[in-house]
Amino acid sequence: MILPILCVKCKNQPAETSAVEGRLKLCPKCFIEYFERRVKESVQKFHMFTHEERVAVAVSGGKDSGALLRSLKRAFPNLDIVALHINLGINGYSEHCESKVRELVKEECVELNVFKLSEEGFTIDDFRKTLYKNEVCSPCGIVKRHILDRMALEVGAKVLATGHNLDDILSTLLHTFFSGDFVQLVRLKPVLMPQHPYQTKKVKPLIKMSEFEDYQYALYTEIPIRELNCPHSIGTKSREGKKILESLSKGNPNFKYQTLSLFLKKLIPMIEDKVKQPNLMSCIRCGFPSSTEVCAYCKRVEMVKRVGKRA
Ligand code: SF4
Ligand code: ZN
Repeated sequence: MILPILCVKCKNQPAETSAVEGRLKLCPKCFIEYFERRVKESVQKFHMFTHEERVAVAVSGGKDSGALLRSLKRAFPNLDIVALHINLGINGYSEHCESKVRELVKEECVELNVFKLSEEGFTIDDFRKTLYKNEVCSPCGIVKRHILDRMALEVGAKVLATGHNLDDILSTLLHTFFSGDFVQLVRLKPVLMPQHPYQTKKVKPLIKMSEFEDYQYALYTEIPIRELNCPHSIGTKSREGKKILESLSKGNPNFKYQTLSLFLKKLIPMIEDKVKQPNLMSCIRCGFPSSTEVCAYCKRVEMVKRVGKRA
């Protein structure tokens, strides 16, 4: 008879899952505790917010942002949290995502603000008619960043938490490092202070949690998450980056944590002062931060609307 491996924490229940890249065999209950404790430690270690601050949490309907909202709510039960969701107007996908977000905030008793992109006169699908064709993730990222800044400002939140996990950060790190984009590389820090009155402090409480751990946490705490993938996500750079990351991690379960530690303790302190961040001014159209007269968001809006008029 093969005896089950016991959880290394409680030494009582069978270990069903693992954390820290397979090194910590845990039962579901101990895994949930491990996850919430680690999120709390990251928030405190990097001084992401205080108990007095109103924290906006960007929720998309996916496992990462769902795990973020639930773990923050449990780790900081008295924190003033407001959930922000953008309905991107992606056919057959966005309504499904919004319904999952509504279920989650109801379970967590958290205030929700939804922004329907169609109210701006366009949707993410419309970018397929522009030069972005099969690469709409690029304008989508710009749109999401801008709208989230706007929403956070409107709800009076000084902090905006996003569900970027360890794998997201490291795959972007590899990409930005090898393309020499050190400005973007510095922006992967766990906390980004505002550089403009219309910006919030951006924080990444899941910086030490892997994608697998987010998924496990979502599963064990039964977070309502979307069952569909975005139709525009096929073959995106982030997916390719994660594949490279997985192959580099093979045979070295420490690889991801070593790389993150190297990034935070060595690389960032070394290059931060040397990398010239663009001087921010206010966009002449929307007033939001921009490195040029007209911001990236307003330029994309103009492009998508111009194409819409021609169609
Ligand atoms: Fe936007 Fe691309 Fe994500 Fe779809 S996969 S929601 S288009 S960034
Ligand atoms: Zn603008």
